[in-house]
Amino acid sequence: MPGGADTLRESLTGDVLTPADHEYEKARLCFNLLVDRRPAVIARCVDAGDVATALAFAQSEGLEIAVRGGGHNPAGHCAVDDGLVIDLTRMRNVEVDPEARVARSQGGTTWLDFDAATQQHGLVTPGGVVGSTGVTGLTLGGGIGHLTAQHGLTCDNLIGAEVVTPAGEVVRAGEDGDPELLWGMRGGGGNFGVVTRAEYRLHPVKRIVGGRFDYEGEAVRDALRAFRDADAEAGEEISLQCQLSSKENLTPTLVVTPCYTGPNSDTEELRALRAAPGLVNDGVREQTFLDQQLIFDPGYGVDRNYWKGHFVTGLPDELIDILVDSLAALGRPAGAILIESLRGGPKDVDPASAALGYREAAFNISVMADWTDPALDEESIAWARSTAAAIEPWSVSGGYANYMQADEPLERVRAAFGRDNFARLRALKSRYDPDNVLRRNQNIPPAQT
Ligand SMILES: Cc1cc2nc3c(=O)[nH]c(=O)nc-3n(C[C@H](O)[C@H](O)[C@H](O)COP(=O)(O)OP(=O)(O)OC[C@H]3O[C@@H](n4cnc5c(N)ncnc54)[C@H](O)[C@@H]3O)c2cc1C
Repeated sequence: MPGGADTLRESLTGDVLTPADHEYEKARLCFNLLVDRRPAVIARCVDAGDVATALAFAQSEGLEIAVRGGGHNPAGHCAVDDGLVIDLTRMRNVEVDPEARVARSQGGTTWLDFDAATQQHGLVTPGGVVGSTGVTGLTLGGGIGHLTAQHGLTCDNLIGAEVVTPAGEVVRAGEDGDPELLWGMRGGGGNFGVVTRAEYRLHPVKRIVGGRFDYEGEAVRDALRAFRDADAEAGEEISLQCQLSSKENLTPTLVVTPCYTGPNSDTEELRALRAAPGLVNDGVREQTFLDQQLIFDPGYGVDRNYWKGHFVTGLPDELIDILVDSLAALGRPAGAILIESLRGGPKDVDPASAALGYREAAFNISVMADWTDPALDEESIAWARSTAAAIEPWSVSGGYANYMQADEPLERVRAAFGRDNFARLRALKSRYDPDNVLRRNQNIPPAQT
């Protein structure tokens, strides 16, 4: 592409980075250090026109395209060796219409940007639990977080979008545009175009009862049972998720993060979790929703990660024992196991309104190997794979596209939608991206290939 970057630079309102630019090294970095790629050019777009220009430039130069929002995807889909990155990190504006209870966010917005803007009006949409994650990227795969029980998946609250197709056309997804495209974007990932603006339904939420309960030691098994039982009994005013891990000396630990939005701060579920064995820290109290969104704040681009998991029908005692025992399998802390409840909101929605197919599941369980030394790559990846394999007997609806690595076979991607929805997604893909230009994602091949 000799000299090509200069041509792009001239036609873009945003800026263009190549390996010669000092900001390049930071801009190419993925959340997951296991993925280390060197794009030929990074186009930092500022509007839909820039995105169309970058798409056209990449195709005319024969460059493979990656799309970058928050850079969090564990598969590292936001970076491509020798290709072009459509970087949306300069497109992070959020407009809130408090009367209509609608937010419009640009394609590179993060949850920190989004929540800060909507909370000024005491409003919220259910999102992810880490502030630096991209809003659009998370939405396109579903979206599970602190308000899932109350308000459903993030994609259930997506009501419209402006999308730039690989052909450079600006189209509208939604009831006032293409409803089929909106259906596909609810779970089908970044397969159909680059989303430059997305619109979300908002809900009133300001103060919540949340924070974290920390448990330690062998009693963690019983604490996890208490979490499961509390979740089974809970209503839709409380969302629950938890994370198993271990200390340096391999003592198991559990963090439970409730988020309660009802009027009674002393609920039965919170009492049960407070009384569960192994509690070493009770950090659950009334706080702002913005404080709740700061519970988890991992560093960006500091660890190597390999994630694999399953949606499951339940959390029987046998599975709990398998999960807790797996924490010590490597003789060193191996990472974490995230358990997210899908009770409530996701099940209140008409399943036909979205492409994704995992609403029936009780929980999403993700094994998250996490390490820093490249020499540990092989055994860490093997740990995530073997622990996920042990969960498989309870699996339903495949795995969560948002947490998948790039090595997932097509069957697993298909299973996340079901056969009929996958065929419908392939038909949609062939309408919007017949040449599979946007393939750096959990890919849906166009129908004719
Ligand atoms: C620390 C961490 C915490 C997380 N927490 C949660 C959570 O609480 N809940 C949850 O459900 N998921 C969570 N995730 C998973 C996350 O939702 C997905 O990995 C998602 O793909 C990240 O989006 P991104 O924009 O940050 O990532 P990127 O790597 O920038 O983008 C991933 C892919 O999404 C697509 N994409 C992104 N933006 C656009 C756009 N504007 N238009 C078209 N396509 C686009 C592209 O295909 C892109 O390659 C978390 C991930 C991490 C690493």
